[in-house]
Amino acid sequence: MAAKYQTGTEPQRIWVTEIGLNDGIEFHLISGESPDRVEELYQSGGRDFVLAATKGEERVPGRACGSCEYLGGCDSLIPLNGFLQANSPGPWTRSVSASDLVLYEACPSRWYMEREIHLPRVEEGSEPLLRGLATHQWLAQAHGRAKACSADELPDPADIDRLGSVGEAAVDPGDYELAYPFLRSHLDCCPLHDESIRSLTAERTLYAFDAQADAVIATKADAFWLRGDTLIMREIKTVQAQPEADKDEIFSAFLAVAWDLVALDTGFIGHFGAARGEVQLEILSPDAAVVHTYSTDDAALMKMARGRIRRLGRDWLADVQWTPTPNPGCTHCSVRRWCGVRDAWAHAVATKVAAGAEDISLAS
Ligand code: SF4
Ligand SMILES: [Zn+2]
Repeated sequence: MAAKYQTGTEPQRIWVTEIGLNDGIEFHLISGESPDRVEELYQSGGRDFVLAATKGEERVPGRACGSCEYLGGCDSLIPLNGFLQANSPGPWTRSVSASDLVLYEACPSRWYMEREIHLPRVEEGSEPLLRGLATHQWLAQAHGRAKACSADELPDPADIDRLGSVGEAAVDPGDYELAYPFLRSHLDCCPLHDESIRSLTAERTLYAFDAQADAVIATKADAFWLRGDTLIMREIKTVQAQPEADKDEIFSAFLAVAWDLVALDTGFIGHFGAARGEVQLEILSPDAAVVHTYSTDDAALMKMARGRIRRLGRDWLADVQWTPTPNPGCTHCSVRRWCGVRDAWAHAVATKVAAGAEDISLAS
């Protein structure tokens, strides 16, 4: 059909073939059929879906907004002009989140392969990943009811028949077992014990547009709340042991805090009708919960936050090379099979060790 309408050449036989990028296996969806037969198949099984897909009017902002022609005139994205503090727009419209910049900072090539051209990845289903996911899912379900979490809703994992209404709706029983100690720690600091808090949204990505940089800004905080005229963004992290670090060191370790502060200050506060913003970073370990609070009223902190986003954002926005940067994370990089320098870091370390060097940090 496409050949007929786009080239004017009359097709004789038609093949539509999927080729797996992972395994190279070919699968023929249509195999050597005549144009009349393909027309018949389209009318009977495809046309209704095509019509349904092209008449939608509901706008659902997402990462794909970055490639939408209508982006500049769409009011579904929250204005966040100047978020990246770029002097000029990038070479084309792009989408970015805090986790994008974390990935980019470690290796631009990995970011490009994972997030931009979506090469098949090999992910390790690590325990920290699974427990973090389960903890977030359980808390999103619990906080969606706008009431404080309680111990009654957290049965012992050995008693999975009593998973409870929150757990049953949110997590797989096996993953609940991993999340259980972290959720118990959360009970001590559940913010919904404060009845003056109003929940706006939980576990939802907000999409905004920085017109100055021509970039879609994706922000996923674990919860957005209003307390009086303060807009609160809550970030929750699970760790095996509480870090021995002060509030400033924690700020440096979690880019999401700087990201959220700048997003609040640049547009979210006004968008949600608040007067100030606050980022609460809740760090959960099996034996404790610690909440660090950062305010947009803190001028020195805001200067640091803006500087961090500006430096990383500027590099990312202007980049068209995506140079690989071998680093200690290469051994478990999800796209290492596509990377030509995947073993460069390991070889460099081995060479230093063979030469008897005591410092194998590769800093020099
Ligand atoms: S293997 Fe290393 S250098 Fe290659 S893309 Fe992954 S992180 Fe970057
Ligand atoms: Zn809670």
